[in-house]
Amino acid sequence: MKRLQHWIGGRSVAGTSGRTAPVHDPATGEQSAEVDLASAAEVDTAVAAAKAAFPGWRDTSLSRRAEVMFHFRELVDANRKELAQLLSAEHGKVLSDALGEVARGLENVEFACGVPHLLKGEFSEQAATGVDVYSMRQPLGVVAGITPFNFPAMVPMWMFANALACGNTFVLKPSEKDPSCSLFLAGLLAQAGLPDGVLNVLHGDRESVDRLLEHPDVAALSFVGSTPVAKHVYETGTRHGKRVQALGGAKNHMVVLPDADLGMAADAAVSAAYGSAGERCMAISVVVAVGGVGDALVEAIAGRARALTVGPASDDASEMGPLISGQHRDRVASYLDVPDGQGSVVLDGRADPATAGEGYFLGASLVDHVPPGSALHADEVFGPVLSVVRVDTYDEAVALVDDHPYGNGVALFTRDGGVARRFASQIECGMVGINVPIPVPVSYYSFGGWKASLFGDLHMYGPDGIRFYTRNKVVTSRWPDPATSSVDLGFPQVR
Ligand code: NAD
Repeated sequence: MKRLQHWIGGRSVAGTSGRTAPVHDPATGEQSAEVDLASAAEVDTAVAAAKAAFPGWRDTSLSRRAEVMFHFRELVDANRKELAQLLSAEHGKVLSDALGEVARGLENVEFACGVPHLLKGEFSEQAATGVDVYSMRQPLGVVAGITPFNFPAMVPMWMFANALACGNTFVLKPSEKDPSCSLFLAGLLAQAGLPDGVLNVLHGDRESVDRLLEHPDVAALSFVGSTPVAKHVYETGTRHGKRVQALGGAKNHMVVLPDADLGMAADAAVSAAYGSAGERCMAISVVVAVGGVGDALVEAIAGRARALTVGPASDDASEMGPLISGQHRDRVASYLDVPDGQGSVVLDGRADPATAGEGYFLGASLVDHVPPGSALHADEVFGPVLSVVRVDTYDEAVALVDDHPYGNGVALFTRDGGVARRFASQIECGMVGINVPIPVPVSYYSFGGWKASLFGDLHMYGPDGIRFYTRNKVVTSRWPDPATSSVDLGFPQVR
């Protein structure tokens, strides 16, 4: 059985806690590896390695830090397929999804390559007579990243690319469900010339996270995962004086107005609801059909969803893979036992042929006439179950989105620019798509939801990422004017 160890101080380190967790291939249900789970003492070792590496890395020139990022970018690019395959084998998503994930992660490395420009400060000459004022952004020290299972390559790159480029050292605690990508990326960073100890990968579960949250040498924490854990991380981390950004769960609505291009909307709903088996924080989970659009839209979505091929990533014909675990698949499937009056099941993924084997499959599922506030509408299902809520008016659709506790992403499908503009302005969500179902911002903007989808002040990556991983310093300086100074400079006076 393959054993996945920690990566500390530039080398593979065997766990000493005696605790491990199994890693499975979700397409077969078979165990593929055993991963070490760190104890609090092992967290201390990883943080100490990062702390020891900080002075050297902080003082490394901007051009050298950018150069390492450029090398890393080239290595990830050259290893896209290998990384995607590694990702699919532990997460289950099909290869096209996995390649897309790698590409979206890589964007953040490309952004971080511009760090010399991104860290430029401000300068005010002669703020007062003889006084200049300037600012600089400096790294925080040791920062930690805690990442979820659903984007095991992309989310770590959301975090460490900017954090490292800014001069911090990093302890990454990836999901114990699919830990291999982090180790692969750490290996590529080492090949790219990153000094030992600047990035460390520590496998673990709650025990290691809790130690990171209180560790006196951890200056900041970035977290992505479910809302209850995000809240715990934010509250505990800030209580211990740390800077924290904690991104949580989601329930993303796609509002379809009667004037929308229905073919376009149905295509978008299918790819956004069932891509990666619905295990995306930006997945569309609820279609809001406005006015008379419901019947035709449900028919168009159902026709497309029925045609999806569900199967393992190893089969090129597969369009949707399994879920992460049998337990999670069963939880998602339980939403299809819809109580009376809570919706009507149009497509039941439990009948998909792929569910016959030992893999954690569930076919594309569609439930119509879901009432607002019912479990299907309220909960983050995080699987391939798409709900349709029908409302009469645009205002009802907006209220439905605004009243929901989550505020990650939302999409509007319409042909009316004025309505779209008004929607984008008024809706209570951090990321808005107009005829775009998954509006994940490009890497030179920042990613983040509102309400229960984010705890903290700054969003992830992009300009907010640079702000999060640096602190600002302002210097006010006065120098005597050599023309009037009485100090003997030892060389001919300036006139
Ligand atoms: P999770 O919250 O179970 O785990 C996330 C991380 O926290 C993992 O590294 C895990 O080991 C650790 N963890 C789990 N339980 C913990 C606990 N009690 N105390 C301390 N640490 C703990 O999330 P997941 O199941 O891995 O990922 C899916 C969730 O992540 C979904 O809710 C999804 O919406 C969310 N997500 C959000 C975004 C976003 O950008 N907002 C992006 C991706 C995923």
